Amino acid sequence: MAQSRCAKCEGTSFEAVRASLKGTRFGYMFVQCAECGTVVGVMDAYNVPNLLFNAARKLGVNLR
Ligand SMILES: [Zn+2]
Repeated sequence: MAQSRCAKCEGTSFEAVRASLKGTRFGYMFVQCAECGTVVGVMDAYNVPNLLFNAARKLGVNLR
C-alpha cells in the first residue's frame, strides 16, 4: 500500500482537530498534516454511523 503524504511538506503523520467554521451549525473536524498543519480533509465531529446505531437500538430495531 502506498504511503500517504502531505502535499506541502511530504509529512506522513496526520491528526484530527476540531474545526471552527463560520456559517455552520454543526461541528466538524479537520484532518491535517501533523507536521505543518495543512488541511487534507474534513469530517463530521460526531461519528454519524455510531449515532444511528445507538438511535436504532433505542427504537428497538433488531440489528443482530
Ligand atoms: Zn505537511
